[in-house]
Amino acid sequence: MSKVYGNFIGGEWVACQSKKTFADYNPAHTKEIVAEFQDSGAPEVKSAIDAASGALDAWGRMQAPKRADFFRKAAEILRRRRDEAADALTREEGKNIGEARGEIDRGIALMSFYAGQWPALGGEMVPSFNEGRMLYTLRVPVGVVALITPWNFPAAIPMWKTLPALLCGNTVVLKPSSLAPHSSALFAEVLAEAGLPAGVFNMVTGGGREVGDVLVSDPRIRAISFTGSREVGKAIMRKVADRLIRVGLEMGGKNPMIVMDDANLDRAVEDTVVGAFWAAGHKCTATSRAIVTEKIHDQFVEKLVTRTKALRIGDGMDPKTEVCPVIDENQTKKILEYIEIGKKEGAKLLCGGERLKGGIYDEGCYVAPAVFAGLSPDMRTAQEEIFGPVVGVIKVKDFDEAMRVANNIEFGLSASISTRDLKTALEFARRSEAGIVHVNSPTAGLELQAPFGGCKESTSGYREMGKVALDFYSQIKTVYVDA
Ligand code: NAD
Repeated sequence: MSKVYGNFIGGEWVACQSKKTFADYNPAHTKEIVAEFQDSGAPEVKSAIDAASGALDAWGRMQAPKRADFFRKAAEILRRRRDEAADALTREEGKNIGEARGEIDRGIALMSFYAGQWPALGGEMVPSFNEGRMLYTLRVPVGVVALITPWNFPAAIPMWKTLPALLCGNTVVLKPSSLAPHSSALFAEVLAEAGLPAGVFNMVTGGGREVGDVLVSDPRIRAISFTGSREVGKAIMRKVADRLIRVGLEMGGKNPMIVMDDANLDRAVEDTVVGAFWAAGHKCTATSRAIVTEKIHDQFVEKLVTRTKALRIGDGMDPKTEVCPVIDENQTKKILEYIEIGKKEGAKLLCGGERLKGGIYDEGCYVAPAVFAGLSPDMRTAQEEIFGPVVGVIKVKDFDEAMRVANNIEFGLSASISTRDLKTALEFARRSEAGIVHVNSPTAGLELQAPFGGCKESTSGYREMGKVALDFYSQIKTVYVDA
């Protein structure tokens, strides 16, 4: 029997009124239920917001170093439960166990990082034109914050939203993805064991419409931080526009890797493979377009195909696995449809792109990593986010054309270039219409102490992680004091 988790509301694990639950399945063995969760609706969302509203005043008044102490304790607890949390992550999301451990380690590092950020919550003393006047600023909480998260980083994303939100004195209602809510439930357990006061952090599981939509529609929610698809992000923005609240949206990408004539080709191929295929391409920062100069194009493609064909595809629990299963049947169907679209558009499928069968592959959703060549920049396969193990190669004449192709897209999350020339690298960093720019490293990959976020339709403009996240979760109050 799999464990049934309640919602975490007001410091208690509670069942939903309807008594309905849903299952979280293992993508490597789709008959295996990882755990079951509450199929919640409006009553549960209301109770969670009630709890968060009730806890807001005391939590916001608590001295910031004291709030930070809970994160220090949480980091110790998560360090102790690291292997259990990583196993749970691989079992619900599919990614390779090494990557899952890395994600949990990032969670621990985020806890330590934000535990150390309380001095950044100070304001500033401002010189006044008026004699005897004291003029200063304070950072104050925004209020009750709704956090809505996707399935592909089910441990790290809820943590990188919750920790700065709480540090700033807000209280939280988290709605994790129904495809991978287990990691959020473990996070709730860790916060509870760390002694976080009841109601400060709440988690409600359930559908996007039944929970997410109801949550963002409640007038008591003063800020929303959402990570997920562009379509849902835009719908949320439209829905709450009249309330003029803060809406942080981090959405999709169609990230380019430019490979120049002077690149170290083996390294460029490896960076493309890591960016495109690790975690089955289930990364908003995954490499989906390799933009390669004509002089080295054929050689690059040959090496890329050879390396891709040699990739080990399997259950993420096997440490040797390089390409893990796709999250579920729906996503598998979507990827296979895009493979057909690419073929119809005239792109040349050089390897992969089929559903794998036989042995362990019959137990889950496995798609062979695909390389398309001959992509032209306006094809759908070159413009739309596929979110699977698919990369398309686009041949260009030179750097200027590469930049035009890289930027000719509605998304703008991450971009990378492979070059040995410093001038080209710096010019790329300047001209790239992406929020994250890499030189000689994969498009996927980030450090938690630096700002994270995109440009154009990948974002609503705020940044996550690092110190800058505190700006989203706090507001500045200006105080004029005359004696
Ligand atoms: P999704 O948009 O389908 O779902 C995201 C979350 O929104 C889920 O919790 C879902 O239940 C909820 N939701 C769905 N409908 C809703 C509604 N009407 N109102 C409120 N909430 C609703 O996205 P997904 O499939 O879970 O994740 C994949 C997407 O996330 C990809 O586009 C990927 O690029 C993006 N992503 C972006 C980043 C980033 O930081 N930019 C990181 C990871 C994933």
